[in-house]
Amino acid sequence: MKFGTKAIHAGQHPDPTTGAVMTPIYQTSTYWQKSPGDNKGYEYSRGTNPTRKALEDCIAALENGTYGLAFSSGMAATDAVMKMLQPGDEVITGNDLYGGSYRIFTKVFANYGIKFHFLDLSKPENILPYVNEHTKMVWVETPTNPTMQIVDIAGLAKFTKAHDLVFVVDNTFASPYLQNPIDLGADIVMHSVTKYIAGHSDVVMGALVTNNKELYDKLWFVYNACGATPGPQDSFLVLRGIKTLHLRMQAHCINGEKVARYLKNHPKIDKIYWPGFEDHPNHNVAKKQMRGFGGMVSISLKDADLAETFRIASNFKVFTLAESLGGVESLVNHPASMTHGSIPKEEREKVGVTDSLLRLSVGVEDIEDLIQDLENALK
Ligand SMILES: *Cc1c(COP(=O)(O)O)cnc(C)c1O
Repeated sequence: MKFGTKAIHAGQHPDPTTGAVMTPIYQTSTYWQKSPGDNKGYEYSRGTNPTRKALEDCIAALENGTYGLAFSSGMAATDAVMKMLQPGDEVITGNDLYGGSYRIFTKVFANYGIKFHFLDLSKPENILPYVNEHTKMVWVETPTNPTMQIVDIAGLAKFTKAHDLVFVVDNTFASPYLQNPIDLGADIVMHSVTKYIAGHSDVVMGALVTNNKELYDKLWFVYNACGATPGPQDSFLVLRGIKTLHLRMQAHCINGEKVARYLKNHPKIDKIYWPGFEDHPNHNVAKKQMRGFGGMVSISLKDADLAETFRIASNFKVFTLAESLGGVESLVNHPASMTHGSIPKEEREKVGVTDSLLRLSVGVEDIEDLIQDLENALK
């Protein structure tokens, strides 16, 4: 089946009791057992729930994976992956990460004896000097948040396979519509479902997808044992949102490109980050591994101090100043003080997350209104 058909149908069947076409919200914590252990595969909703199962199967199908697990947030999904590790293990990751990922690595798992190396992963071979007998995992984001660095997934997979490392890709920015890391050699795909997959800024959720039964069993153990699993109402909302993922992503890509091209030579803008530009670092890799360049565009303002950047960020009327991304509505975010506030200034400035950087999540409103809003805000 192709993507749009899977987005609408995968994991979902008419309800066996009533024939309901839409997967019902199974608002139940527990399930009847005819005699102990004689049940229909459902025992207790921390571990399994039919509404959540339909969603998990749908997300797995969209990532061309076999197994899907939904979590109560993207961070809970990340937490579950890290809980497969042991004290003394080492992880190689990128130097431009979502602030919450950086925070859970450095402030939570480092305390449990796991060591993280934050590297420039624009060239896959950069990991080699850091691989040793303790290295267990490589964790990447691509495109990265917020400077849109592109990591060559297939190139990196060659090294992770050769060294027997678990290769995890945070695919939040691309969404499964634009990029499928498992097809390129990744072992686990992580999503903040909160963003493009749910798509309507009304749910917080995370997901993991893998093809590897051994990894799935370990992840399912953590999922059920630690219990950060989402309830049926949120699962239903995401199942509803996901049905238009392909349509929304097409519109995000079109509007994203128009906004990026409008801003490219704008006199108020110093740097622009959008992987569709030919002069964007690793543009050719993006072209090869993604089906489109998405709706995320970051800009740094020319000669703007923090006060001037805040003034401009507060000037928008259609773009809403808020954290998060990937919803139908356009958002503007100031990474240094908002999403990436937990990263020390020296660290974030090294990769371009300066005080004058703004990140735009271009929504699916009419493009004329978005361009007009940018024009007014940048005055
Ligand atoms: C938002 C985000 C996360 C965290 O997900 P939550 O659903 O907010 O917990 C992780 N990675 C990326 C790239 C994100 O944008």
